[in-house]
Amino acid sequence: MNMAKEKIVMVDLVRQYEKLEDEINSTVIRCLKESAFINGPEVKEFEKSLANYLDVDHVIACANGTDALQIALMALDLKPGAEILVPAFTYVATAEVIALLGLTPVLVDVNIDDFNIDTESLTRYITKKTKAIVPVHLFGQSANMEKLMLIAKENNLFIIEDNAQAIGSDYTFSNCTKKKSGTIGHIGCTSFFPSKNLGCFGDGGALMTNDDALAAKIRMIANHGQKKKYYHSIIGVNSRLDTLQAAILSIKLRHLDEYIRARNDAAELYDSLLKDISDVEIPKRLLYSTHVFHQYTLKIKKGKRDLLQKVLQEQDIPSMIYYPVPLYKQQAFSKYFGGAALPNTETLCTEVLSLPMHTELKKEAITHISEIIKSNI
Ligand SMILES: *Cc1c(COP(=O)(O)O)cnc(C)c1O
Repeated sequence: MNMAKEKIVMVDLVRQYEKLEDEINSTVIRCLKESAFINGPEVKEFEKSLANYLDVDHVIACANGTDALQIALMALDLKPGAEILVPAFTYVATAEVIALLGLTPVLVDVNIDDFNIDTESLTRYITKKTKAIVPVHLFGQSANMEKLMLIAKENNLFIIEDNAQAIGSDYTFSNCTKKKSGTIGHIGCTSFFPSKNLGCFGDGGALMTNDDALAAKIRMIANHGQKKKYYHSIIGVNSRLDTLQAAILSIKLRHLDEYIRARNDAAELYDSLLKDISDVEIPKRLLYSTHVFHQYTLKIKKGKRDLLQKVLQEQDIPSMIYYPVPLYKQQAFSKYFGGAALPNTETLCTEVLSLPMHTELKKEAITHISEIIKSNI
C-alpha cells in the first residue's frame, strides 16, 4: 500500500490493540467466564502492579480520571469556599470538580514555554483561604514539582497532581533523586481513558499516594464511604474500575515503557524536521522531567495557526487545539474570572497545535506531515 495514502489519525488504538490481540482476547474471555465483573481479583492485581511500576505505596483504582480528582479533593476535608489554585490552561475536569464540591477554583497562569503552572506568579494568589494546588502535568511533562512542594510546605497546602497526561514520566530533583510523576504530591490522580498513554477499553482512573491515612480515606470515599459493607461513616461516591478494564490495563502496563519510547521516537523525528522552520516552535524539554508525549504540541506564531490547521485538514491530516479557550472564558467558569486575563494562557490558546501522536505512528507519516507544515507556513 502507498504509505502517503494511508489515512493518518490522531491516535491509533486499533493497531495498538492488534499487537496484543491474542493476549487481550484470551484474558477478556477468562474474565467473562469468571464473571466477577465488579471488584474481581484483577482489580487488586492491577493496583499492585501499578503501585510497583510507580514505586508508590498505594494505588486506588476508580471509575475515571475526573472521579479521581473529585475523590482526592473530598479526602482533604476542605470547608466550602476553600481556594484551590489550578492552571487556567488545562482540560476542564481539573477545575470542574473543585467547583462541583463548593470549593473555589483560582485560575492561575502557565509558563509560555512548557505549558505547566507558573510557580512564580502563582504565589501572588495564595491567601488565608488557599488550601491546595492542583498542578497538571500537561501533554506529558511534569510541572515544577520541587518548587511546588516547597511552596506547599511553606504555606501549609496540599498538592494534588493531575497526572492524567503524564503517567510514566520521571521527575528528577536537584539532589538527583528520581520519582514518577503522580507520586510526588500528597495525592496523584490519573485517567485510563482510551487515548491516554495507559488507556483501557472504556473509562477508568486511579489515585496514588504514599500517605496510609489518605489511602484508607480515599478507598472509603470511592466505596460509598464505607469500610464495612452497609456501615457508612462518611459521605462517599460509587467509583470503581471494572474487572475487565483492570485485566486489560495489567497487560498494557507491561508495555507502557515501550509505548513511551515509541512516542519519544516520533517526537524526536518531528523535532528534527520542524525545528528550523520560522514561526514554528517545537515542544520544549525540561531538565527535571522526562516527556511521555501524550501530545506533541507546537506553537505556531504570528497568527498563522488556524490557517495552517485548515491546510492540514485539506490534506487529510488531523490536528487538534488543546485548548482553544482559557477556563475563565468558559461560560461555566465566568464567576471564577479573577478580573485580569492571564497573558501566557491567552497566547497559548491562539498558538498551540497538537499533531498526530501515538505508539503506532510511522516515520513516513511524520515526514509527510512535517513537509506539509514546512511548505505551508
Ligand atoms: C483526561 C483528563 C482528565 C479526566 O480524565 P477522565 O478519565 O476523562 O475523566 C483530567 N485531567 C486531564 C489533564 C486530562 O487530560
